[in-house]
Amino acid sequence: MKLDYHQDDFFGIIPLSGGIDSTAALYSTLKSNPDKNFLVFRIDMVHGTSGHRTTREAMATEQILGWLSKNGLENFAFRELRIDYSSLGMTPPVWDSEVVNFAASLVIQAKPTIQVFIEGAIKDDYAELGFEDRLTKIEKILRLHTGKSASELEIQFPLKEKSKVEVMRSIPEDLLKLTWSCRYPKIVAPWQFGRCHECPQCKVIDKVIELNPNEFPTGI
Ligand SMILES: [Zn+2]
Repeated sequence: MKLDYHQDDFFGIIPLSGGIDSTAALYSTLKSNPDKNFLVFRIDMVHGTSGHRTTREAMATEQILGWLSKNGLENFAFRELRIDYSSLGMTPPVWDSEVVNFAASLVIQAKPTIQVFIEGAIKDDYAELGFEDRLTKIEKILRLHTGKSASELEIQFPLKEKSKVEVMRSIPEDLLKLTWSCRYPKIVAPWQFGRCHECPQCKVIDKVIELNPNEFPTGI
């Protein structure tokens, strides 16, 4: 049976956007820690360019969590928070990861048994200019707002040694098919969302598919 946010205590907290990386981090963490309870949380980030993305990511999240339960991974509860900063203009003034970590810190205050934060950064992220600085900043956000030291709240990076293709290989094909990483989903007929194939996330996925023909299912 799935856990309950109000009734149960949690060992760790795992942000889930519904994208490939956060899904892989969630899957590997639940699988390798069957005796520990995790709180999965999603932030519905509403801002100038979020558009269809929030709707599509919410759909992906629901399907992913349903898949995990159906496949015997039930050591989690789910919590969703909505932050609307659309009044601040088209370009969000803060990174998604900063908003996620700020919101996580509020949840950690509410559930003080949480001692681990699962961060879904992959090997390729570290090659990006300024990525380490961003990590340092979001760690500071977590520590400032929870008041927890490194020994009280550990940040784990289960995917940090994996490239994108390795991350995609690390999750079952039917779970991979449920993920959604495109930042600017389009509505395509009939009654469906389609990837834009132009945002950085689409470009990375399309490149992996191109370099590894016939390995990944269609529709991701
Ligand atoms: Zn896209």
